Amino acid sequence: MFASHLECPKCLTKYDTEQPHQLCSCGSPLLVKYDLAAVAARMSKSDVAARPPDLWRYRELLPVIAEENIVSLGEGMTPLLKLERLGTRIGMSHLYLKDEGIIPSGSFKARGAAVGVSRAKELGVTTLAMPTNGNAGGAWALYCAKAGIAAVIVMPKDAPAIPRSECAIAGARLFLVDGLISDAGKIVGQAIGERGWYDASTLKEPYRIEGKKTMGLELAEQFGWEMPDVVLYPTGGGVGLIGIYKALCELREMGWVSGELPRLVAVQATGCAPIVRAWQQRAAESEFWENAHTCAFGITVPKAIGDFLVLDAVYKTDGCAVAVTDEATLAAESLLATTEGTFVCPEGAACMAATQKLLADGWLGPDERVVVLNTGCGIKYPETVTSDPRLLQPSDRLPD
Ligand SMILES: *Cc1c(COP(=O)(O)O)cnc(C)c1O
Ligand SMILES: [Zn+2]
Repeated sequence: MFASHLECPKCLTKYDTEQPHQLCSCGSPLLVKYDLAAVAARMSKSDVAARPPDLWRYRELLPVIAEENIVSLGEGMTPLLKLERLGTRIGMSHLYLKDEGIIPSGSFKARGAAVGVSRAKELGVTTLAMPTNGNAGGAWALYCAKAGIAAVIVMPKDAPAIPRSECAIAGARLFLVDGLISDAGKIVGQAIGERGWYDASTLKEPYRIEGKKTMGLELAEQFGWEMPDVVLYPTGGGVGLIGIYKALCELREMGWVSGELPRLVAVQATGCAPIVRAWQQRAAESEFWENAHTCAFGITVPKAIGDFLVLDAVYKTDGCAVAVTDEATLAAESLLATTEGTFVCPEGAACMAATQKLLADGWLGPDERVVVLNTGCGIKYPETVTSDPRLLQPSDRLPD
């Protein structure tokens, strides 16, 4: 294993990887550091190419020590689809969709769960708890079932119904709160302190991000170890965006990719856009967003604990942060389905809507290599279709 230690990105305090750690004593999330020179000496691109098509193909850049602790449902290596028809329609020649819709549990939260649960198992955790907007709870419940770890999941009562069923069928202890993920987080924080459970909240343990990082590793590999120009990411807690940035920085340090990193775009909904507001003010951190609401439930995060890391990645890559309306999101969702045959989740659709907006503004060039990240499958969100009357108009007679 090549992970050397955990490090606080704020105060630079180091921690070992042998003990379970949560936040730094200064309150910041901790990040996993690797001996990248040793990784580069041990692993080659052709080694990676010969391995099975899942995220463990990058195991030297992952924190799990013993192979028997790996808890896998076959996650990773999702398709990178070129959107020819939609690209032609809107005037973009190199538009891609990285489609996480086909991953176990139907959302990219499976990546974080696979690596996070594997490390929890390795560290001897027997019960973990987490707040969630739905998909993380579903994914962690399922991976915990496979690992034999008890999971306590706290979710807003308005979260989509299907992830709730995932928690239930996987035997997790599910607790619903009348409020937002921030309220669920407070309940978990209190219970953790009282009961001594492992806190698997976003960025309160350092390993979930390592799983999500593999999206960046895959993108580099899928582009032939080159980097695209722009990646759009639906940003809630922002773990995926921080992870992609971390992955590409690690690959660059290893000499596997070179040149400019892609401009990273944090996409949010106009009903919950704390990162966008902070970016517009060139602030280093975001402020709590009151009365958060959007159909893209996975990105309803009023204040992210890793906001400063998200903003740092956006600033350092010359990216931007952009908010789109639910109306634009739902229109983009149906546009993707009718032109490309992909039924994406609303969060992924928000990135497509943001692409159109940034193209119209001239921020994106028509020939740039642009990746829209679809973080989950639309089938998990039947209500986004059934609640839109324009989308459900069965004919009363067959077409001629
Ligand atoms: C959780 C989630 C997001 C946001 O992910 P973060 O890493 O927390 O920003 C986006 N899309 C979907 C479908 C999600 O479940
Ligand atoms: Zn610190």
